[in-house]
Amino acid sequence: MPVSGLPPYDEGNIFARILRGEIPAKRVHEDEWALAFHDIAPQAPVHVLVIPKGPYVSLADFTAQASDAEIGGFWRAVGKVARDLGLEEKGFRTLSNMGFDGGQEVPHFHVHLFAGRPLGRMVSPAG
Ligand code: AMP
Repeated sequence: MPVSGLPPYDEGNIFARILRGEIPAKRVHEDEWALAFHDIAPQAPVHVLVIPKGPYVSLADFTAQASDAEIGGFWRAVGKVARDLGLEEKGFRTLSNMGFDGGQEVPHFHVHLFAGRPLGRMVSPAG
């Protein structure tokens, strides 16, 4: 069971299908630990998703259950993608939605990487 308050990992989720190559994605990086690809509905000029290769539902699940090598390899990949896309000079934002309040839609842990314009407030006001 995941420790994230979410249902068990669903092997049919869209990111699992991208990992298996069953549906296409505009890939920007792949290594032993992670896959990065462009978001299908970008919310900034650069909007890339980085996902671990393992079956983790959320950040909570990943950080509780993944090995140190998986966690280290994944976060190194996030940094490498930002570096390789030339985002470090002007800056960027990483974000991970988790669960209902977090607004998570796809139940495979992922980090959003946004860049390409000033990104405004961190969280929109309540309402
Ligand atoms: P989240 O709300 O954090 O779960 O975000 C899921 C993200 O996945 C959204 O930004 C979607 O636009 C994106 N997404 C959904 N399906 C695909 C797909 N097939 N390829 C790339 N991005 C996708």
